Amino acid sequence: MVMICKTVSVACLTILLASNVLYSLSISQQTYGYPSSIDQSWPVKWEYLNFTICIDNGADTKYEQLFIKAIEDWKNAWPHFRYTLIDLEGIKACEINVIILKQSVDMQNAGHAGVTWLKSYGDLYIRSIEITIPTQTRAEVNEGIHCCREIVFESSEKFFYETALHEFGHALNLGHAVDNNKEPVDIMYSESNERAKHVISALSIKTLDKIYTTSTQAKDYPIIIQPSVTIDAITDKSIYVFDEILELSGKVSWKGGTGTILLFDPEISLYTFISFTPKRDGSFSLDINLKTEHVGTWILVVQYSGASEFIAFEVKEIPYKAYGQTDKTTYVIGDVIQVNGNITRYVNKLSLVVINPDGIVFTNSIASLTKDKQFNAEFTLRDTRFTIDGVWTIRFELELVDYTIYFDTATDVYFDVRKAIISTTPDQVEHEQNEPKLKVRVQAKQIRDIIIIRVRNLDSSSADVYTFEISSNFQFIASKGSKGWIKEVSGNKVTFVTFEKPIYTGDKQYFLIKVDRERPLINWKVNESVEGSVIPFLR
Ligand SMILES: [Zn+2]
Repeated sequence: MVMICKTVSVACLTILLASNVLYSLSISQQTYGYPSSIDQSWPVKWEYLNFTICIDNGADTKYEQLFIKAIEDWKNAWPHFRYTLIDLEGIKACEINVIILKQSVDMQNAGHAGVTWLKSYGDLYIRSIEITIPTQTRAEVNEGIHCCREIVFESSEKFFYETALHEFGHALNLGHAVDNNKEPVDIMYSESNERAKHVISALSIKTLDKIYTTSTQAKDYPIIIQPSVTIDAITDKSIYVFDEILELSGKVSWKGGTGTILLFDPEISLYTFISFTPKRDGSFSLDINLKTEHVGTWILVVQYSGASEFIAFEVKEIPYKAYGQTDKTTYVIGDVIQVNGNITRYVNKLSLVVINPDGIVFTNSIASLTKDKQFNAEFTLRDTRFTIDGVWTIRFELELVDYTIYFDTATDVYFDVRKAIISTTPDQVEHEQNEPKLKVRVQAKQIRDIIIIRVRNLDSSSADVYTFEISSNFQFIASKGSKGWIKEVSGNKVTFVTFEKPIYTGDKQYFLIKVDRERPLINWKVNESVEGSVIPFLR
């Protein structure tokens, strides 16, 4: 029985899928070890250590040069083989056939950096070996919530070169190194970590000596490569907060052409994909807006002319806060109080709650927010029956999309109010000294059992209506005030009170009662000071 022309896939250098590659390459804690053991790769071996090697290169010439350098490095470490390069494009007629692909290919399991096949062998000896190394890795990643964007990573020269060394090690009949968790990393280890220091190990050389009964002074050969393209890139910080601008700057060694920047969020979803063109001196800089609420480790990949640089940074949460200031520190009645400031995070709505010196809510206004998280708001300080003199507070309420309201008292703004002497005539000064008499008009109409009472503030000063009280010599069946007015019922008296929405000068407000009789006499009182009575007319 002769086994011939069997195709067996035994050995390969695996890299993990692109998402994991990003992690393993950018987070350098991961270390693989110096080998504790290496076995042979194939049950058969080369009969003569004198190979013909065909390189079929479909990618950039630099990769072919790197493969030849890899062969030479092995020869330097273990000088017992000879080889002849045969330049027959597309023909796999050699003992070792090397195929360098520009595209990534599906090599049984996606994510392999290279594969070495035992293509043909007899009972004792290897007849031919085929090595395939792609120069690109493709991966599909989510882009935000959308699936999927295909991204391409061109292998760095270092990565390709280390893959070439690994695969050629298989071609010589070396299996995988077993990990012992110490650096440097044996090139025959089955996973790649671009950041680690690699060696052709003394153990590899001893293993080859054992297989081929040769004798070599075994030692470690560090793997050194000077890439023709280099990228140096840094971010201005290593920790960012939400909505910050990340400043990326760097320099590449080669001029001309464009590079790409891929930014991945902590779930390895593609956050953004940017092209950049370096300046004449190779330098580049750009800003990336981290308009995100995604906490964790982010990864930035800078690619240029086949080289890649990975940068990891953290994004941290920032608390919701509002910082504001008033245009003045002291106001008088009638003043327009202007407030401006900024918020730390985007919110659905920012409300300014104005609280008087007694802690009563005077008004509530919605601030307008700009794109850069600035806000401004204004409100008029009107006369009320509540305390005016003293220290007022503006509290910011941040309303989020999910309607949670955050109170942040730490950022409250305080201002002083002195009660103003508004007019100049003695008569009005005296009027001011007394409780100001409001001028209101109260009208009512009845439709069946419903009476609608309209209260109009006709006051020409700036006094607002805060309370409205109605009473009669009989019990109302029901009563209803306007939104923002609180109702108190005691006996045949109903009092409506508001802090938030008073009846301003010129404004009107409606109140409803349900009664069991026609055209009853209703007594009313406004701000506990002005009173009168009304009989509704029928509709
Ligand atoms: Zn392998």
